[in-house]
Amino acid sequence: MNIIILGPPGSGKGTQAELLAEKYNLFLLQTGDIARDIAKKDERIRKIMEAGELIPEEEMTLYVIDFLKDERKSLKNILFDGFPRFVRQYDAMNNFLTMKGDDIDAVVYIDVSQKEATKRILSRRVCSNCKKIYNLETNPPPPSMKCSKCGGDLRLRKDDNKAAIKVRFEFYEKNTKKLVEYLAKKRELVKVDGERSIDDVFASITKKLTSLIAKSEEKRKK
Ligand code: AMP
Repeated sequence: MNIIILGPPGSGKGTQAELLAEKYNLFLLQTGDIARDIAKKDERIRKIMEAGELIPEEEMTLYVIDFLKDERKSLKNILFDGFPRFVRQYDAMNNFLTMKGDDIDAVVYIDVSQKEATKRILSRRVCSNCKKIYNLETNPPPPSMKCSKCGGDLRLRKDDNKAAIKVRFEFYEKNTKKLVEYLAKKRELVKVDGERSIDDVFASITKKLTSLIAKSEEKRKK
């Protein structure tokens, strides 16, 4: 089973993606992490990311496909977070999966306002080691300010500042919103209101996903 999770920056998709990957036993592919690894060695990518901009769409597609070829030869059971962000990235990935006899089973879309998302992003902290996500208000780390999972140091992402958040939203409005509209015409989206607690959002997603997955498995059996 392959799932895509979409939503604006700060919609909580990273947190929901972690929970969903655990529940459905999926490999969590977060393209922000792939990009951050590349940025450690590539000055151009580092600058793009720190400004809150997106990596050129085709270049990012190649990084993701390379990653899938190298790390996920079986190409099964993946939760895609952060990719695709463009219609062309979706088409490229869909063609790639189709060629391997695989498919996208569901697309989850988390909706939140820019105001709420900005507030959340500014209080987000990420473990520098295992990448676990915290929020100082809604999902606080232990008082030691160390990761509860691995003890790593917690940091503010370099693109989690007001100027970069504004740019990230502009990219989202210009590109990913079009992808959401494009996908909504092609298939039933698992659309949820993200302005609720982590548990409530998760419960809504899993409820809707369960019925979609059942349909998708029925189709596969035929
Ligand atoms: P994220 O952690 O998903 O917010 O991604 C962080 C950054 O990684 C983005 O702001 C982009 O610079 C880069 N990135 C991640 N996924 C993509 C993508 N699908 N297309 C282009 N750039 C991406």
